[in-house]
Amino acid sequence: MNVRKRLIDPSNLGWLEFHHFGEKGPKVLITAGLHGGEATGVHTARRVIDFLKAEEAAGRLLDGRFVVLPVGNPTAFRRLQRTSPYDELDLNRIFPGDKDGTISLRTAAAIWEEAEDASYVIDLHCCGTYGRSYTLALYEEHETARKLAEKLSVAVVIESGGTRGQLFVEASHKGIPAAIIELTGGGPVGEVSTAASDEAFEALVGLFRAEGLVAGQRNDPRPVFHGKLEGIRCLKDGFLQPLVAPGERVAKGQTVATLDGEPLQARFDGTAMQVRPSSLAFAGQPAIVLAPLL
Ligand SMILES: [Zn+2]
Repeated sequence: MNVRKRLIDPSNLGWLEFHHFGEKGPKVLITAGLHGGEATGVHTARRVIDFLKAEEAAGRLLDGRFVVLPVGNPTAFRRLQRTSPYDELDLNRIFPGDKDGTISLRTAAAIWEEAEDASYVIDLHCCGTYGRSYTLALYEEHETARKLAEKLSVAVVIESGGTRGQLFVEASHKGIPAAIIELTGGGPVGEVSTAASDEAFEALVGLFRAEGLVAGQRNDPRPVFHGKLEGIRCLKDGFLQPLVAPGERVAKGQTVATLDGEPLQARFDGTAMQVRPSSLAFAGQPAIVLAPLL
């Protein structure tokens, strides 16, 4: 392994540490912490670095190159917040970036340089404490993205809304197989879901093995493909009581929560992806986010 540091902030605060492994073959770029508070992703990327170090030491790296960036937004990470305090730009909305721009634009440009010639781009994020992990990909539009999602053993795949400026969206439009893995956890205390981290770590190592980049037995991914996320919103202020858990299958017409005792029902068969806890909710807020089964 060698670590290449890129200075992205003249005040010396913004070092990006790209961890490189392997010298030839397809290039896998794994990024995390583009949103600074998304700790499960950062933790998982660090586990991948440790795994690749051990594989390298044991001579088990085969024909592949790996670049892992565990903290993609260092100044935001230090505060466990989404954006850098220097410019408050959402780093995952501004790719391909601008090397002469503000700290976030320069960060995006430095990461994009690594992404442009990658064979796979996987970006690790967090979907919050009350979310169920999933792979997010533009799989309807891009066959390359579908094939990648099929090879990842994260149990749920969701079609992306395709917002431009996201690393995986811009990579997908360039024809690079790309996806986000959204992981349970994150937030202002740096919460790490170890179960979500295990699921993503197994998915990544499984991909490396399936593609012949690392020796060892591959897993047997059978993710279930879903359509775009859809929220059920509260139509009034009240006491919200959920009746399902994140990751649970729901049926069309099923009461998934109550608001002041009145039922909120699923409009389709799907999977509960975000479930707000028992709480005092306000009109307009999402109670539960579901993903439709296809
Ligand atoms: Zn994120």
